[in-house]
Amino acid sequence: MNTPQENPYASPQVDEFVEVLPDSEEGTNKEFEMRIGKIVGESPLSLPKVCLYCASDIEDDYSLRRCAKYQRLRLLEALPPVSFQLFYSTCSRCLAKAADWRRGRRKAWYFTGFTAIVGAAAFATMIALSPGREVAPQDPWLYVCFTSGIAVIGGFFRVLYCESQLPKFPELNSYDEDTFAVSGAGWKFIQRYR
Ligand SMILES: [Zn+2]
Repeated sequence: MNTPQENPYASPQVDEFVEVLPDSEEGTNKEFEMRIGKIVGESPLSLPKVCLYCASDIEDDYSLRRCAKYQRLRLLEALPPVSFQLFYSTCSRCLAKAADWRRGRRKAWYFTGFTAIVGAAAFATMIALSPGREVAPQDPWLYVCFTSGIAVIGGFFRVLYCESQLPKFPELNSYDEDTFAVSGAGWKFIQRYR
């Protein structure tokens, strides 16, 4: 199979993750090995139909087959950039879980934004109500400010936590000619193929 000509004007260093259609992986390399938690093989590399994150076999139609495309400039700028392709699967369960975490992250953002507004409004009211005088510790507005400040910090950490639970795209770690190493596989995947 002819691999399509890479666009020489495409901006390098931009990784792409596109959905692949069935049967578009003919002639790709299927051999790979795990080295210190990284997938090492020759590009274009097709991983088995196993979830990259939880290592379960892909059995239903709700899973996702993606192609990760990495392009890197070479030191000699006259040479065209090198590019690598990795085909991998995400199972329907991991996709659903990711959707949940994304929803959770959105909610946490709303919560953070809302409490920040409440806190700012309370602060503005407190300043407006007590111009020129000391803010007393028993002032209820101070209490609202303080509580919403804590809630904003809490909400923000919640956002970060949801973010950390989202499956990450596999990352190009190192490369040499056609051989490339990719990190980002789940622990169970690493266990299964090491
Ligand atoms: Zn999975």
